[in-house]
Amino acid sequence: MLNLWGALLIPALLASAGNSLAAPDRPKENAMPFTLPALPYDKNSLAPHISPETIDYHYGKHHQTYVNNLNKLTEGKPEAGKTLEEIIMSASGGLFNNAAQVWNHTFYWNCMKPKGGAEPTGELAEAIKRDFGTFAKFKEEFTNAATTLFGSGWTWLVLENGKLKITQTSNADLPMKHDQTALMTLDVWEHAYYIDHRNARAKHISAFLDSLVNWDFVSANLAASKAKAGK
Ligand code: MN
Repeated sequence: MLNLWGALLIPALLASAGNSLAAPDRPKENAMPFTLPALPYDKNSLAPHISPETIDYHYGKHHQTYVNNLNKLTEGKPEAGKTLEEIIMSASGGLFNNAAQVWNHTFYWNCMKPKGGAEPTGELAEAIKRDFGTFAKFKEEFTNAATTLFGSGWTWLVLENGKLKITQTSNADLPMKHDQTALMTLDVWEHAYYIDHRNARAKHISAFLDSLVNWDFVSANLAASKAKAGK
């Protein structure tokens, strides 16, 4: 599973080695091709912003179910030998939805860390100033996008044609289907916040921006994307 993520997740995963919720998956004789990646931090460590109960359901039930469904849908088919990204880029319907939700959730968990938030630095901070004016304006635009997304979906910071942009996607949709590189995401499906905040999505958004964002991961994604583009 980890190799599907290439260089993108490696810095974050290395940084958090030895501090993960679940034991690493060990190869089994009848191993399914897709597995649930370990959380990059302890399930108690995002509290009080995200409770361990939310993690138990969101990671342990929802994310796990997308992995299980993906294995069921690809069993005995050529897709079982494909990477997650290859399936996302070619599939539709239930297969796309489950593959994309596996990718989205793994990416989301890595966008957070205990005692995160604050402000980005370096090249990412400069790019935010260049494309949004100020960090405060960026936060305002991200908050607005996350607040106004109707129904279930995701709010993203993406790189598109060398510029940062905030986008919304519905359900399982994701930036790679739109020629964009994902840098950061917030899950705004109700299952992401209902246990902790009930219907108050605004509290979920502000907790993410003020106390949880792992800007090192977002910066690493920007650097990896630029390296890939040969800039
Ligand atoms: Mn979710």
